[in-house]
Amino acid sequence: MDFKENIRVVADFPEAGIRFKDITTLLKDGKRFHQAIDALTKPFKGQGIELVVGPEARGFVIGAPVAYALEAGFVPVRKPGKLPAETLKHEYNLEYGKDSLEIHKDAIIPGQSVLIVDDLLATGGTVQATIAMVEALGGVVVGLVFLIELSYLEGRKNLTNYNIMSLLKY
Ligand code: AMP
Repeated sequence: MDFKENIRVVADFPEAGIRFKDITTLLKDGKRFHQAIDALTKPFKGQGIELVVGPEARGFVIGAPVAYALEAGFVPVRKPGKLPAETLKHEYNLEYGKDSLEIHKDAIIPGQSVLIVDDLLATGGTVQATIAMVEALGGVVVGLVFLIELSYLEGRKNLTNYNIMSLLKY
């Protein structure tokens, strides 16, 4: 199954030089969306995953159905100021720009088995920030799951201690 035909590549968005991988064209195709979630969850069935952690916003769209399929809980990681209770905060670099992320301090019980899910691995800044927060709260990161990996940005290079799964590579 080649899901690449379901991804729309938009040149120079959100700024010149970026080839944006638009997943909305996959999401609107119910059958393909379902197949993609099945493919992402298959390796982790029966592995005792307790929580899926997904960064805003496309990490919610992919992470929540993955959590549902694995009968795991879902924990949102959000931009600053969005989560209502006490949070842990971490700054990170994007392929374009800089940002911070937050997670609720009580989102993870130490020792819980966690899968981190996002739509796309670029430089790896977002997932590194997410890993740092999950581990600071005592979570055990079992895997990193992405729909898309931009191999040319070598995000994997800084994630050698982790089990990474991606469905599509560019
Ligand atoms: P990074 O932190 O560099 O790995 O960037 C990952 C995040 O930025 C993902 O959550 C993506 O949603 C977004 N992103 C970065 N580069 C692209 C791209 N070329 N196309 C679409 N989304 C991107």
